[in-house]
Amino acid sequence: MAVSDMGFTDGAEDEVRVSAGPRSGPESQASGSSSPRTETTPSAAAVASFDMVVIGAGPAGEKAAAQAAFFGKRVAIVERRAAPGGALVSSAGVPTKTLRETALYLTGYRRREVYGLSIQLDPDATLDRLMDRTAQVQAAMAGQVRENIARHQIEMVPGTGSFGPDRTVVVTPGRRDTGPRTLQADIVLVATGSRPFHTPDVPFDDPDVYDSERILGIDRIPRSMVVVGGGPVGCEYASIFTSLGTEVVLLDSGERLLPFVDGEISRLLGATFSSMGVRLVLGSGVGAVRRADGELQVTLESGEVIRPEKVLFAAGRAGNTEGLGLEEVSVQIDARGRIVVDEEFRTTAKGIYAAGDVIGPPALASVSMEQGRVAACHAFGIPFKETVDPLPPYGIYSIPEVAMVGLTEEAATRQGIAYEVGRGWFSRNIKAVIDGGTDGLVKLVFRREDRVLLGVHILGDIASELIHQGQAVMHEGGVIDRFIHATFNIPTRSEAYKYAAYDGLQRLAGLPGAPSG
Ligand SMILES: Cc1cc2nc3c(=O)[nH]c(=O)nc-3n(C[C@H](O)[C@H](O)[C@H](O)COP(=O)(O)OP(=O)(O)OC[C@H]3O[C@@H](n4cnc5c(N)ncnc54)[C@H](O)[C@@H]3O)c2cc1C
Repeated sequence: MAVSDMGFTDGAEDEVRVSAGPRSGPESQASGSSSPRTETTPSAAAVASFDMVVIGAGPAGEKAAAQAAFFGKRVAIVERRAAPGGALVSSAGVPTKTLRETALYLTGYRRREVYGLSIQLDPDATLDRLMDRTAQVQAAMAGQVRENIARHQIEMVPGTGSFGPDRTVVVTPGRRDTGPRTLQADIVLVATGSRPFHTPDVPFDDPDVYDSERILGIDRIPRSMVVVGGGPVGCEYASIFTSLGTEVVLLDSGERLLPFVDGEISRLLGATFSSMGVRLVLGSGVGAVRRADGELQVTLESGEVIRPEKVLFAAGRAGNTEGLGLEEVSVQIDARGRIVVDEEFRTTAKGIYAAGDVIGPPALASVSMEQGRVAACHAFGIPFKETVDPLPPYGIYSIPEVAMVGLTEEAATRQGIAYEVGRGWFSRNIKAVIDGGTDGLVKLVFRREDRVLLGVHILGDIASELIHQGQAVMHEGGVIDRFIHATFNIPTRSEAYKYAAYDGLQRLAGLPGAPSG
């Protein structure tokens, strides 16, 4: 599989700031580390030495570099794009969430039934506003990453990094007016991330067929679209385009959306999508995507042919490992092209670490950052962050949002745990009724024996924020009574936790649960 560049800033590797001079803050004094040494021999180009070289300035690389630099290490970070921040800033979390918020704001989509408003938008003007706002936020976020790198006196090295002789890192710049640079460090962290997976069956060279990066350059808001993939990216884009008035068909070969979330939440999300007008085609597979007679055709396994204006293929990511020279330095890759690491993020090669999407799931920016920090701490024996949070929350920014932490009902069953659930429905929550966003619930999964909270699953507005309260209780090993005895502001969506816990207690006592509507 070829390593394709990641779209947003292709071929424009200019204006990357290079920090100058040794750091002089208290951290560097404490560690006694030195500025990079530059050695030149007659046979070799100048080699700059650091304590750590990081390849990739995405979430994993930036945070690893900052963590090491904070503790006084001399760090260089190599990035092939013009702007740092990785996929998070260029094509993933930042642009998709900006698109989502802007689409909801411009269309009034979420609350149109409450206020009886239906806003007619000029599609061209809407697309311009969406893209302008997205570009503004991306530029602001890339600026913040750049500042963080500069503030930690990390040297930013523009270009494509790969392993060279004697385990050096050779950086080939995108610009033709400068030659390659060679960097050397005891610790190298590979944080090169991932890119959309391209299956050969899909004609990605067709201008109306998009992957999850190229979609950000879409030329118009289409009348109709087929989204392939019922994972987080597919669900997010399917609902964003629906809010913009596009007729969306969402296809997945599996039987349900978001296979890793709680089954009930997945079903409810599917029902909400259907009520929004999304046509769900699950468990049927996609026979073929092709252009025939001037039109795009998506043929389902059933033989039905759909003729959408656009297709978005959002099924899977592939690790950016090619061209790095990993084999030469004995870094092992698994059958799916992911770098193999241990719990300290060490690869199979001494002194070489890896973190983020390049090591595989969960492939979240939030987790990638933590992996980077933990990897840096282990690499230098810094007793600060030794493990990655075992209870990371997941947030899916579909409309409505989905969030979860801990065990689903299905996982509790598989583990043979005697559990009970409690549900707090937003249809009965004052805040949700006031603002009209009554879809969804807070669902608690807890152990029957001692009421210890095992999992929290939320569907509805601000689910990705609300989940952290459940996560905090789980971190303390808390019981659901915690929500019953806490006083919540009224009106708030958070209060749904209290009623979910009461519902759980009622069920434990063999009483019927709270009605949903
Ligand atoms: C559409 C979409 C939406 C998402 N939304 C969310 C979300 O809401 N929340 C969330 O937590 N996660 C989200 N994610 C996942 C998140 O974006 C990734 O998990 C995260 O960006 C991974 O960080 P990383 O540092 O491992 O890799 P990346 O972000 O991919 O960064 C890797 C960097 O390395 C650079 N690079 C690669 N190879 C080289 C080389 N040889 N030399 C120099 N530089 C190199 C790349 O240019 C890139 O800048 C989303 C993903 C997608 C696709």
